[in-house]
Order: sequence, then C-alpha cells, then structure tokens
Amino acid sequence: MDRGFFRYQAEFEQKSLEVLRSGWYILGSEVSAFEQEFAAYTGAKYCVGLASGLDALWISFRILGIGAGDEVIVQGNTYIASVMGITINGATPVFVEPDKYNNIDVTKIEEKISERTKAILVVHLYGQASRMDAVMEIAKKYNLRVVEDCAQSHGACFNGKMTGTFGDIGCFSFYPSKNLGAFGDAGAIVTDDEELATKFRIFCNYGSEKRYHNIVVGTNSRLDELQAGLLRVRLSHLDELNSERHELCRRYLSEIKNPIIELPEVCENATTVWHQFVIRTPVRDRLIEYLNSCEIGTIIHYPIPPHLAKAYEYLGMKKGDLPITERFADEVLSLPLYNGMTEDEQSYVIEKINSFRC
Ligand SMILES: *Cc1c(COP(=O)(O)O)cnc(C)c1O
Repeated sequence: MDRGFFRYQAEFEQKSLEVLRSGWYILGSEVSAFEQEFAAYTGAKYCVGLASGLDALWISFRILGIGAGDEVIVQGNTYIASVMGITINGATPVFVEPDKYNNIDVTKIEEKISERTKAILVVHLYGQASRMDAVMEIAKKYNLRVVEDCAQSHGACFNGKMTGTFGDIGCFSFYPSKNLGAFGDAGAIVTDDEELATKFRIFCNYGSEKRYHNIVVGTNSRLDELQAGLLRVRLSHLDELNSERHELCRRYLSEIKNPIIELPEVCENATTVWHQFVIRTPVRDRLIEYLNSCEIGTIIHYPIPPHLAKAYEYLGMKKGDLPITERFADEVLSLPLYNGMTEDEQSYVIEKINSFRC
C-alpha cells in the first residue's frame, strides 16, 4: 500500500465528509473545480473528467471519428488498455517497437504509416515523456491525429511542456496506483480544442447537450464528486509526491551496481515522474525468485505484450513479429517504489540486488 495516503489522511477525510454531506454526488462543483485545476496544472485549456483512463482513450478515438478500416500507430510494449482504446472502436492497432527508454521508437514510425493510418497513440510509459518533437513532426507531415496516453505520466514533460498537451487529446487515468490516484476508478482528458472538449462533455453524459436533449448515442462516463474532491487534495500534493519518487529513484540509480542489471535511462529533453522503476535483465525470472526469497516483492510491467495476448489473436500476429517488444516483456522488472518508502527499506532492496549472483 502506498503510504502517501496517510501523510494527508486528515485532508482526505475532511474532503470526503464535505462531499458526502453536500448531498451532491454527480457533476457538481468538485468536478468543475478539479477540471479547472488539472487543466491549469497541465497547461491545457480544457479538462473533462471521466470514469476511467480506458474511457478517456476509446472515447477519444470515437470522437475523432477513428474506427473500422482505420489504423492507429502505437508502441508494442504498452499496457493492453492503450490498445483496447483503439480496438473498441473497430480500428486496427499497428505496433511499433520501443526505443531504449521504453517509449515508441520515433525512427520506426514512418515505415508503418499507410493510407489507412489516421492517428498515433503515444504512450508515456513508466512515467517518462516520449520524444514528442519527433512524433509531432511526423504527425504534421502525414496529417495524423495524435492522442497521448498519460495514464502513467502525470507531470512529466518533454522540452518543458507537459505530456498530454502536445497532441489533440491527452488521456489520463486516476486509478489508485497511478501517480495521481483516486480512491476508485477515475479518468480525464485534456485538450486545447474547445469543440473536442464540448464533444466529450456531451458524449460522456448520454450524448445530452442539455438535460433530455440527446444529440448523439453516448455513454455514461462521468467523474463523480467524491473522487473529484479527493483528486483535488491529491493534486495539491502531486509535485511533492513526484519529487519523493525522484529522490528514491536517484538513489536506486546511483547505488544499484550489478553488471547483470540494466538500469533505466532518461531521454534527453524528457523528464520522468517514475511511475515505475523498471530494470532489465536476461535472468529476470531468477532475480524474481531470489528477491521473493528475500521477501522483496516485484512486478512485471508487462509479461505478455498486447500483440501476443489471447484477446488479440484475431490480429494474426505471432511470436517474433516484434522482437524488441518481446525481449522487453521477458526482461523487464519493476522494483519496489512507493511514496513513504523508508531509507532502510530501500537500503535492504539495494543490498540484496547488489549481492545477487546468477
Ligand atoms: C492504467 C492505464 C490505462 C487504463 O486506465 P484505467 O483508469 O485503469 O482504465 C491505460 N493506459 C495505461 C498506459 C495505463 O497504465
């Protein structure tokens, strides 16, 4: 459990009571205040609160009119929700291999563009911003839409500009374990395009322009007042929570010394908010076993790349189609990292990793 909660427990409890006692739970003042504050935080003009990160993704493609017969470019090594955001609408994902920073390899995008390509979905994986200068240049050249999956990158920047504000739409998840986490499911989009923001507001509320005037077949995907209120509290502490993660990762980077382990790198001009601290090693499974025996828990983000998931059998892809993506799936490991991790806890992890021999 992330101990970040306990540090601000009184504020969270007070806000909960305030919302519960207000008697107003859907689309009220907490949601609009959060939308304004989050838009301001990212530097985007508009924010629309939604029920989840996946909703942010699939509704983006729906609103952009991208569906059956269209292709969307996305990196192969992502959480499967990114890909579902594309395929829920009937569009086809076209996978690009990652670079050494675990983000889309911008030198391999152009070769995947066809007449059917309508958009690039950029994922800022593990908290690190992708190379948005190159992505935006390609998008402009081929007249493609750009959607950003910022579910792991709240606060990360490229060239000083926040992730989510480069493309047409930035999609955020506030799932509890994200850097900006709610106390249940929640999500949002940010955009500078007023028309898109309005379309989101209408679509996520049954397609209603005003009450009982439904102009499109929409869905119910609303951020609720309680989550919005709690997210406002958390947002007010996001920079301090992110900088704590930064300190923890700085220590991992300087003190983990084991030749069998490849440490994460940060790309020039990019920043990371360290959603995960992901190492790579060819002896990953033995390292997990060893760390387990030391009672150190680790997680693999993600063991099965989307193109090899049973859900995507219908795409007809096979092992060997994306060798770098597949190697990363076999070699990545996320080390323990959470707000409130103590110096002693981290020392123990570092010491055990440094004494690992295979
Ligand atoms: C968490 C996550 C999502 C999905 O967000 P939910 O709020 O769980 O629907 C999408 N993409 C990435 C990269 C994620 O990490």
